[in-house]
Amino acid sequence: MPEVVITCDWTLMSDHHGKEFLGFGTTTPAFILPEAAYRRLFYPTMRCDEEGHPEQASYGMRKIEASLLDAGIDARVIHPSYLHRYMPGEAKVMLVSGHDYLGLNPPSTTFAGIMKKEPLNRVNFMRMMRLPHVVEAHRRGMKIIAGGMPAWQLTEATRSKLQWVDDFVKEIGGFDSIVEGEADVYVVDIVKKALRGEPLPPHLVLTPKEAPKMEQIATMRYASVNGLTEIGRGCCRGCSFCSVTTRPTRWYPLDKIEAEMKVNQAAGITEGLLHSDDVLFYGSPNIMPREEKILPLMSLAKKYYEHVGWSHVAVATLMTKPNLLPKIHDILCQGTQSWWGVEIGMETGSSRLITAAMPGKVAPFKASQWPELVTQSAGLLNDNSVYPACTFIVGLPQETEDDVIRTIDLFDDLWDFKAILVPMFFVPLGRLNQRDWFNRDMVTERQKELFGKALTHGIRQSKPLLDIFFEDKKGGAHRAYKAAFSGFIDFIGFIAKYKGLIHEPEKGRHHSMESPLQHPEQIPIPTITLR
Ligand code: SF4
Repeated sequence: MPEVVITCDWTLMSDHHGKEFLGFGTTTPAFILPEAAYRRLFYPTMRCDEEGHPEQASYGMRKIEASLLDAGIDARVIHPSYLHRYMPGEAKVMLVSGHDYLGLNPPSTTFAGIMKKEPLNRVNFMRMMRLPHVVEAHRRGMKIIAGGMPAWQLTEATRSKLQWVDDFVKEIGGFDSIVEGEADVYVVDIVKKALRGEPLPPHLVLTPKEAPKMEQIATMRYASVNGLTEIGRGCCRGCSFCSVTTRPTRWYPLDKIEAEMKVNQAAGITEGLLHSDDVLFYGSPNIMPREEKILPLMSLAKKYYEHVGWSHVAVATLMTKPNLLPKIHDILCQGTQSWWGVEIGMETGSSRLITAAMPGKVAPFKASQWPELVTQSAGLLNDNSVYPACTFIVGLPQETEDDVIRTIDLFDDLWDFKAILVPMFFVPLGRLNQRDWFNRDMVTERQKELFGKALTHGIRQSKPLLDIFFEDKKGGAHRAYKAAFSGFIDFIGFIAKYKGLIHEPEKGRHHSMESPLQHPEQIPIPTITLR
């Protein structure tokens, strides 16, 4: 029986049907359909043994678990539906993790703002923290420590801005400590203090200087969701609205990555996701991809997983060495794999906004090349069987109406791009953390048009993407899920039409990929056509 229980709410304790992208569904409210329908579609519950040990758990929790186990502390990840076995009673410390505790990150604020309802991640997190056995254990002295990327949502700074957050934290009796930053090393100190009954810091921010060195990061002991394996941390592009960029860049050596892939393989996981804020930067000390580092990494991943996906990549990195993607395609798309997915922050169609808010995003190219780089990267991706989710940011403090028009124009250029375009409200993070949230009441007519375009593009491209996503999945269960998702897309299309949200591109407007660019090695980037 562990003294230290590590857990998260039900929306995160899921493999999202083996498709990380479906995790986006947990950031929406339960709109018209009941919550159970969303759970089936987007966050089916993770299988676990009779003690509540999940077969797979989110990577962040597995890392914290490994740090504590390495230090000799009796700690385990426990499914939230099994917390009653340990509370009140056995558990002395509960560590809480999440992606977006209160639904305050960009996708959740966008969906919740538009639909005027609480997102599912918030509903489930609050439900877990209000479980009678959790509340009772806390009342009897169990310490609750919250960490992870969304820890900022529970701090005094957020509570002073959002009354409902303050009310919720008070209702559940508060958190004993909130830890922001990379806690791989520090978690051992704070948990030891909690177990000894010593006072804990109510709120601690671990600075980038305190970030663990690569050799201090533990190797996970048990399997991660969808075989996710971290290959590095940090990003050097310096976008003003992003908190990742404040972290130092570090890359895992191949043997450390392989050790975690072995853990997943031993658990029977056959599909894996390589995680970094830019997978193509692997092993690079600057913004130039290193082919001699990346190709061995891809070969290693393919040795352990039948299907390999990526978490994130940047447009400029892809276009700096466009010849690299076909080589990676040849390594990954073998056996049963015929495609892979990735998330890309495309952010805007405006070169002016790139200069004002994220000049590093386009390096080593010029900001004026940005829209062309995006459309060319779209062709490069689809031509190499990569089907991404592309995020755009709406309501940045530096944004003008002309910037919005340029993003709408970019959407027209991307009309045949097999991808999902996801516009998201600005959230004050990174160097802009003192600014105000962008919310539904601030949305202009132009921005409404932008959301309508993205929705229409999504409805148009979702069915072909569904065919691709499920083409290597056989069996009745997969057929049933595919039919359910197909029905869900039809339902969204019906609602969008009914509410007048469909926005087609202007007649005759096509993707414009005529002007080849010059990248730093003076190799002309090919003009690539979308199929
Ligand atoms: S490129 Fe992405 S991860 Fe890097 S700083 Fe910009 S938004 Fe953050």
